[in-house]
Amino acid sequence: MQFESLNLIDPILKALKEEGYSTPTPIQAQAIPQILSGKDLLGCAQTGTGKTAAFAIPILQLAVQNHPNEKKRKIRALIVTPTRELAIQIDESFKAYGRYTGLKAAVIFGGVNAKPQIDTLRAGVDILVATPGRLLDLMNQGCLSLSDVKYFVLDEADRMLDMGFIHDIRRLLAVLPAKRQSLFFSATMPPEIVKLSGTILNQPARVTV
Ligand code: AMP
Repeated sequence: MQFESLNLIDPILKALKEEGYSTPTPIQAQAIPQILSGKDLLGCAQTGTGKTAAFAIPILQLAVQNHPNEKKRKIRALIVTPTRELAIQIDESFKAYGRYTGLKAAVIFGGVNAKPQIDTLRAGVDILVATPGRLLDLMNQGCLSLSDVKYFVLDEADRMLDMGFIHDIRRLLAVLPAKRQSLFFSATMPPEIVKLSGTILNQPARVTV
């Protein structure tokens, strides 16, 4: 199977070609059509499986197709991940696959001066990748609004809980719009993760690799 058979738009196919990607990985082949059709997704997958592109590619495409000619950038997609390293990688992936879409991705994480991140947010962002603590901090300071989020990804949910982020996640869920598409990824599915996924997802498609 090739990316051409997944009904992707030309700006994304062109970027994938430049990345040297020709064949979708198993999680991409399974997840991309489900996400493009608007379904929530429960993905059981580790890093290294191509998980990032499995959600980044369809989110970019949905953001292009569903919001043409928007004058002002608003945060339409929010990706929450437990560590700075993962956040940076995910942001780089959105920038690479989305380089011909006109969409702008940005990343925020803790442990560094917030000022440059605040300046980036002020300039306008379509896709925000964030770690939980800094996301809530900047939201509480009024530096960002999540009221336009249509696509929400919780990445590495099991690590998120291991790192003690459950309260941050609950606070975040309380402010996200109820009408949204949610994608939930975890390498393992212990009972507390299944329970958390049930509070976030609505009749999800399931993908395991
Ligand atoms: P991830 O699991 O998202 O961390 O991705 C693992 C690595 O695989 C990254 O370095 C990606 O750039 C690469 N990758 C993802 N999808 C593909 C693909 N379809 N073809 C070739 N490389 C890929």
